[in-house]
Amino acid sequence: MSQSQTYRGGRVTDEPTEPQRMRYPCMARQCMMPGSIFPAGAKEGVCAWHYGTNASDWPRITQILLDWGCVAYEINEARRVFTDPETRCAPKVLDQLYKTAWERLQPLVPGWEDALAPGKTKAGFAESYGDWARRLEKFLGTQVHASISARRAA
Ligand SMILES: [Zn+2]
Repeated sequence: MSQSQTYRGGRVTDEPTEPQRMRYPCMARQCMMPGSIFPAGAKEGVCAWHYGTNASDWPRITQILLDWGCVAYEINEARRVFTDPETRCAPKVLDQLYKTAWERLQPLVPGWEDALAPGKTKAGFAESYGDWARRLEKFLGTQVHASISARRAA
């Protein structure tokens, strides 16, 4: 393998070492989440937070995601880390990125540490970076659901 070649996906290629960042934005206007769910027949995807909701609720959902942009950022950053073979298979690197992620988020969420700080799994083990990222996803889902439910009840 020469200096200009890289090992990617189990084969040696001559592709540049800088990974291509593909972006598939959610079709909801101004949503910063990836549109990773494709409803039947759709050419564009929607994110997990907009999927299956009424289009009339989309601006409100987007606003919640923007309001919690620092959490959304960490979810997307964790996805990037876990889809990059260089980082997802390097436990020490993952540990450092996890630590850095919480150091980055903590000052932005005062008063929400109980809900957002790295904690323990239901089985009592320390959460991994992946566990934590999934919990952040659920947290955002809860915020979106609460907002829509409150709007409907009003
Ligand atoms: Zn979205």
